[in-house]
Amino acid sequence: MADYLISGGTGYVPEDGLTAQQLFANADGLTYNDFLILPGFIDFIADEVDLTSALTRKITLKTPLISSPMDTVTEADMAIAMAKFEQGFITDPVVLSPSHTVGDVLEAKIRHGFSGIPITETGTMGSKLVGIVTSRDIDFLAEKDHTTLLSEVMTPRNELVVAPAGVTLKEANEILQRSKKGKLPIVNDRDELVAIIARTDLKKNRDYPLASKDSHKQLLCGAAVGSREDDKYRLDLLTQAGADVIVLDSSQGNSVYQIAMVHYIKQKYPHLQVIGGNVVTAAQAKNLIDAGVDGLRVGMGCGSICITQEVMACGRPQGTAVYKVAEYARRFGVPVVADGGIQTVGHVVKALALGASTVMMGSLLAATTEAPGEYFFSDGVRLKKYRGMGSLDAMEKCSGSQKRYFSEGDKVKIAQGVSGSIQDKGSIQKFVPYLIAGIQHGCQDIGARSLSVCRSMMYSGELKFEKRTMSAQIEGGVHGLHSYEKRLY
Ligand code: IMP
Repeated sequence: MADYLISGGTGYVPEDGLTAQQLFANADGLTYNDFLILPGFIDFIADEVDLTSALTRKITLKTPLISSPMDTVTEADMAIAMAKFEQGFITDPVVLSPSHTVGDVLEAKIRHGFSGIPITETGTMGSKLVGIVTSRDIDFLAEKDHTTLLSEVMTPRNELVVAPAGVTLKEANEILQRSKKGKLPIVNDRDELVAIIARTDLKKNRDYPLASKDSHKQLLCGAAVGSREDDKYRLDLLTQAGADVIVLDSSQGNSVYQIAMVHYIKQKYPHLQVIGGNVVTAAQAKNLIDAGVDGLRVGMGCGSICITQEVMACGRPQGTAVYKVAEYARRFGVPVVADGGIQTVGHVVKALALGASTVMMGSLLAATTEAPGEYFFSDGVRLKKYRGMGSLDAMEKCSGSQKRYFSEGDKVKIAQGVSGSIQDKGSIQKFVPYLIAGIQHGCQDIGARSLSVCRSMMYSGELKFEKRTMSAQIEGGVHGLHSYEKRLY
């Protein structure tokens, strides 16, 4: 076995642990609990760890966390709360020139819903800042004044408070507070506009520093569809409603139906990002990547409410599934969502360390305030319902779930999930920050400043793993106490 030298140290350190490739070299299927990551070298604080990660080929999230498309996990409240975790400088704002008119501002307002518009010489970013037009400049103009040139109504450059390029969000916030203005243009040393910060965004930023937004500053949102004819209608409605990502929801995604649906969506809405799945092998992934998916959802039978492996005899332990699919898909630049089986924040770190770019959670987010459904009490414990979309319960009440788990002609319904309950977890406003900090601490112990560093350490073989025997797993949990209380945050 090769030894290596720690430079400047006391000598050779023997090779230790397994690379991911070695960990998965034999055909044992491994779950997240079956292995650990060996710690690395820390030379940065956990807070600095950058969790930016790709959801699809074109969409990047500030945090690698997604909620499952399940009727007891995600409706509007959950989607909005999850999306609120980014935002900063607007580098592609609407910009106009002095020769545009008041009518152009009003039109921009209708289209984009705001009116504080920076004015540059050429009407584009990167050009010299000459003024700003806010609603106060145009509110009292009469209808006939719509043709008035902005050069006549704008607040000119010499009356503007601006900040220099390189200013931090915190400093920008302080300047905005002092200036009492709504917008703060950021200019370089040639006085050219490079970004803009809005007071309303800063307020939101204070509350939701990691919100994920699209180029129109709308919170990002994905939605699931099946692969039947009537799903095409749902697809049209979702697209009209502004969905950024479409997830093709199937427990076994490697099918002619899904491939046809990917072709259909890509032809009709070429810019819409499509996540295909679910898959657990490279062979399954290949067909969907060939069909044109922008992301893959990985997991079959690992979900907490799932009995697919028991009933269908098909599936794969999730650690192996994530590694095998991610390792194949990365060659084509297709990111992987590790879907299901996440029980702890440590599992999130492991999924990401095995090559997943994001993690999808059902049970972990169920029974939070933002999850759909009412709380109820059972034996004095406050609970919310959580059920598999392939449970008979969901199937009877929710047509979408039937499509995921049952074929049209099925006479006997074979349940693939159960229906149960989970204890109240409080709001995800507290829980998600705990997950984020937990992932950052995990990366710090690994010695990875960012998720992309973590992934490249894994693929280069620098990141080392070790299998856990049953007794190692017992040792790794709380043991030997008469009683204890497990409070996580
Ligand atoms: P969890 O995070 O372990 O609770 O798993 C959630 C994931 O399980 C979802 O994102 C789905 O991929 C999957 N799932 C949802 N409903 C069912 C079901 O009824 N049977 C099997 N898997 C399911």
